Amino acid sequence: MATERVRRSPRVNRGTVLRKERVTPHMIRVVIGGEGLAGFGAGEFTDHYVKLLFAQKGVDYPEPFDMDRIRAEYPRDQWPVTRTYTVRSWDPDAVELAIDFVHHGDKGLAGPWAARVEPGEEVLFLGPGGAYAPSPDADWHLLVGDESALPAIGAALERVPDGTPARVFIEVEGPEEEQKLPAPAGAEVVWLHRDGGPVGDALVRAVRDLEFPDGTVHAFVHGEAGFVKDLRRHLRVDRGLPLDRLSISGYWRRGRDEDGWQSSKREWNRQVEEEEAKALS
Ligand SMILES: Cc1cc2nc3c(=O)[nH]c(=O)nc-3n(C[C@H](O)[C@H](O)[C@H](O)COP(=O)(O)OP(=O)(O)OC[C@H]3O[C@@H](n4cnc5c(N)ncnc54)[C@H](O)[C@@H]3O)c2cc1C
Repeated sequence: MATERVRRSPRVNRGTVLRKERVTPHMIRVVIGGEGLAGFGAGEFTDHYVKLLFAQKGVDYPEPFDMDRIRAEYPRDQWPVTRTYTVRSWDPDAVELAIDFVHHGDKGLAGPWAARVEPGEEVLFLGPGGAYAPSPDADWHLLVGDESALPAIGAALERVPDGTPARVFIEVEGPEEEQKLPAPAGAEVVWLHRDGGPVGDALVRAVRDLEFPDGTVHAFVHGEAGFVKDLRRHLRVDRGLPLDRLSISGYWRRGRDEDGWQSSKREWNRQVEEEEAKALS
């Protein structure tokens, strides 16, 4: 007998904004809590992420909020808009989830939301997903990213064992955007400043110029898709890194909102992989 498979939507978490702070002029930490987060299962990975749900203007959703009903009863263009954010920290005892938002200007949904949200506001989100944590087997770690990957790099540094070398390159606009990060013995953190230049150029230069320490590396490289593509090619083709030693992806794309980037990502990745396969053959 054929069984019909019903695709259930992922669990929707319902939290409340408890407080927020400006970590730096353009990085806003929003702390979310409330009973709806009890049992939120983050912890295994350091790149855990959630998908915040933003209501479409003028659309009323069922109460209580039900993603299955929305998918069944509402046209696709009325579903809530999602924005993806790293779990900077999750404290199951205090039931507090911290997310660091880049406030990249007035454009977009999530950045401006973080700038204006006040304690007490409800937040709905899916997740957590995640896939990477610094491997305890690695001889050294390479962590590279722009501001959007800074929360994941901060979380990763909390798990790099003392004494294991870590080369960390973080690109921000200027010195005012540097922040205090966990500093395990063996980690060298280099802050690179864009100073109005293109996103990621300084990161590509820094990794190309790096003299790799001996031994097996575990690398984490994320941020704007253009520089991530350049670095993927460099690490895979010039440095010969196998894919299982590399967590690498574009978190966002210059000139595209998240919806636009996500819908073109599959084709983007296909081209990257095709070019890479040619270069490696
Ligand atoms: C797994 C994962 C984890 C992520 N974690 C974080 C995180 O912890 N913190 C974080 O801030 N971001 C994170 N991002 C990136 C974030 O999802 C995107 O930056 C997203 O586009 C922001 O949504 P928005 O509504 O603010 O802007 P959108 O509406 O998506 O975009 C509006 C405009 O702003 C531009 N833009 C988007 N992001 C940036 C940026 N960072 N700098 C400059 N211009 C930008 C777009 O290109 C577009 O032109 C993560 C992404 C992924 C896939």
